[in-house]
Amino acid sequence: METTRIEELRSRAIPPASHLIEGTPHQASDGGTLNVVSPIDGSILTTMPKGTRDDARLAIRSARRAFDDGRWSGLAPSSRKKILLKWADLIEANAEELAVLGVRDNGTEIGMAYKAEPLSAAGTIRYFAEAVDKIYGEIAPTAPDALGLVHKQPVGVVGAIVPWNFPLMIGSWKLGPALAAGCTVVLKPAETASLTLVRLAQLAIDAGLPPGVFNVVTGEGAVVGAEIAESHDVDVLVFTGSGATGRRLMEASAKSNLKRVYLELGGKSPNIVFADAPDLTAAAKVSAAGIFRNSGQVCVAGSRLLVQREIHDKFVEMLVQNAEAMWVGDPLDPNTQAGAVNSEHQLAQNLAFVDEARTAGRTIATGGTRILQETGGTYMAPTIITGVQPDDRVVCEEVFGPVLTVQPFDTEEEAIALANASKFGLAAGLWTADLSRAHRMFAKIQAGVVHVNTYGGADITVPLGGVKQSGNGHDKSLHAFDKYLDLKTAWIKL
Ligand code: NAD
Repeated sequence: METTRIEELRSRAIPPASHLIEGTPHQASDGGTLNVVSPIDGSILTTMPKGTRDDARLAIRSARRAFDDGRWSGLAPSSRKKILLKWADLIEANAEELAVLGVRDNGTEIGMAYKAEPLSAAGTIRYFAEAVDKIYGEIAPTAPDALGLVHKQPVGVVGAIVPWNFPLMIGSWKLGPALAAGCTVVLKPAETASLTLVRLAQLAIDAGLPPGVFNVVTGEGAVVGAEIAESHDVDVLVFTGSGATGRRLMEASAKSNLKRVYLELGGKSPNIVFADAPDLTAAAKVSAAGIFRNSGQVCVAGSRLLVQREIHDKFVEMLVQNAEAMWVGDPLDPNTQAGAVNSEHQLAQNLAFVDEARTAGRTIATGGTRILQETGGTYMAPTIITGVQPDDRVVCEEVFGPVLTVQPFDTEEEAIALANASKFGLAAGLWTADLSRAHRMFAKIQAGVVHVNTYGGADITVPLGGVKQSGNGHDKSLHAFDKYLDLKTAWIKL
């Protein structure tokens, strides 16, 4: 994006946000609002409704009606496709505005945000729209006296609860397949990243999505999110966020209508570097980007570096150089490589992990501090901690900030054991020139994705999901439809 365009969009006043229910803007039923604080400089950007349980109920009723009367699921798939493709075009046409709005709200560096947010959301909506008129049912191989038809039908009302990192990208991973399948949706954005999703919903209406099919309710997780999770009118709950919230959602499902719950949770992903890595310079550069981009606020971030002992000191030195060369600062400066930490709360959490490691005598090889405090924003220096122990909290728990721990290993078996010594299993990285070793380790590493001789590459064609406490189910790829399309059999006696 051009700097002049970014500056023009940065200076725009942002009107107060609204819920979008039944295709129209709504304020909170009790008039409550939340301030939208920019992590760039701590300024108040605007306000948004502090949703109530009544607001969430209104949106759920709207989605229920829209599903049950077939205004969306009853359309031919090719008609849904047409509207969704128009929506994707509108998202793309408004990409610059959406990107800057999102950065002002959540602090991701603009270079990354522009591609990963509006452009990726448009691509995701388009991918699922294009797919929806290519899904067939089945004829079962029954005996000749019966005909078994297996249909795929939309599952119903979807409750989508999403986090503050990459709201458009992650939101569209849910919205694309859910809406293409014919479901209706009530979405709750995160408190600190709602503005772009509200705008996305307005664009959907402009594209011709019938009212009530996609509703957005802003506000607090414990109120709006909890109401969606406890509702008897929501058929499936799709979530990206922390394990603690994921547990609450499963509990709410068990206590209400046993709605299906799909969780995309956190990670503590190992990035394993062998001495025979094809290019150590590239490995250090990509590994640094793999943890420090977006100030570490990436679910698949390679936050646990496992490095073969013979190259440990040399590789740590290379990483430190990369970390210190990284441009951290104003996320609306196109040169910035790591923007703001999303909130004061998140920054305090990150620093607490570092303080604990420091107190335990671990080595802070670089970073470990808040920086650029004079801006009023929330920034943290890329941080590398060596000399850690396997049961240190900073090694076991997800920081979700720019903090990398380093552990040495000697053998392949030890690397696998260390990699799998985690309650999480989202992603992993593996750097080696030995193809046989790469295959052996790929089979044994417990993770939803293993990157080989790179870290963090992906596109919409491959599924994303975790094992162990990183969640269940998959976003992205055609497999994502499985969450939103139910199998239903017609058994016909001939
Ligand atoms: P969070 O769990 O605090 O919040 C996520 C969403 O849940 C927000 O919208 C929040 O308002 C809502 N929520 C909070 N409490 C709730 C409750 N009691 N009932 C219902 N909803 C509630 O997580 P976060 O801090 O916003 O996001 C960061 C987490 O998301 C990290 O753990 C990160 O790894 C994870 N994440 C995972 C993926 C993935 O694909 N696996 C992708 C991105 C982020």
